[in-house]
Amino acid sequence: MEGDSLFDKLSRRGVSRRDFIKFCSAMAATLALPSSLIPRIAEALEKKQKPVLVWLEYQDCAGDTEALLRASKPTVGELVLDILSVDYHETIMAPAGTQAEKSLTDVVKNHKGKYIAVVEGSIPLKDGGVYCCIGGKTAKDLAKEVCGNALATIAVGTCAAYGGIPAARPNPTGAVSVKEAVPGITVVNLPGCPMNVENLTATVVYYLTFGSLPALDRLGRPYFAHGKRIHDNCERRSHFDAGQFVRKWGDEGHRRGWCLYEMGCKGPEAYMNCPVIKYNEGTSWPVQAGHGCLGCATPNFWDVNTPFYRRLPHVPGFGVETTADKIGVGIAAVAAAGVAAHAVAHAVRKKESKEETGTQGDKK
Ligand code: SF4
Repeated sequence: MEGDSLFDKLSRRGVSRRDFIKFCSAMAATLALPSSLIPRIAEALEKKQKPVLVWLEYQDCAGDTEALLRASKPTVGELVLDILSVDYHETIMAPAGTQAEKSLTDVVKNHKGKYIAVVEGSIPLKDGGVYCCIGGKTAKDLAKEVCGNALATIAVGTCAAYGGIPAARPNPTGAVSVKEAVPGITVVNLPGCPMNVENLTATVVYYLTFGSLPALDRLGRPYFAHGKRIHDNCERRSHFDAGQFVRKWGDEGHRRGWCLYEMGCKGPEAYMNCPVIKYNEGTSWPVQAGHGCLGCATPNFWDVNTPFYRRLPHVPGFGVETTADKIGVGIAAVAAAGVAAHAVAHAVRKKESKEETGTQGDKK
């Protein structure tokens, strides 16, 4: 019903008070907020109206929409129908054709300056933007109209945040990020291939709780999601420290869950909360599943992080993902050397130990 709080709506969908508080606790944890702020989050969600949201899709693979559809905290039903008022989403909405276009126009007209625009996919600028048109308008013109009148824009996925794979060399469509296509708008980047939907929910919850957007790093990403290095939270880190590396896909180290650094893992230079919140109801994330981190939440990752299976120090452009703001490319290169030296030191120690004891130094 109109005027009901978010909690009222959630209650009617069978969400208990206990589950609601659990959700608020999970959001506080994702946002790296102290537990003392859980009541404030709960109060905000109980009292605030759900924000109107429109979701635009341009040059993308729909991976972020897939991530949205797999949201678990809350479930997709709660997220789409209760927490957020998704008034326009090309892939999942019921209206089509002119009816759908009217939904979008109505939001821009009736909620000017108050709705959230979510953009998935990059925006092509080459040849007048003809490579992505919807309803006879180019993606650029639509983004200008919709994002230009929004309270804020959330660029979900690396394509919307930085151009992503469509912008990889030779970038045939002249693909750019939302921020580049519509300069001057307020944008929160939630990169990742795909983004983690819990970071999207947390961003909206943060806004509802504090009335402002979360603090961002120099790449426009929230610190709560991109403030910590993957390597420092990785469950394989003890194997890195012990010099136990996977050296071939399917070898014994791979079967035993050892470190993927030698297989090209970019975790030592990537900043995202993947190891903490994981994907698909906290089921797993790429490194847990046995594949190294590709550093997908950074600009130009497809160009600078390839070949993906080459060890970090030899990757062209290595160091582009520095400690968010402060550490420059030069320092990152030193860090890379440090990682390499660390790995070498461990290998030497293991070799010495092996020679001393006659044991297999690379095995547990
Ligand atoms: S190099 Fe990769 S797999 Fe190894 S500890 Fe770091 S993040 Fe984990």
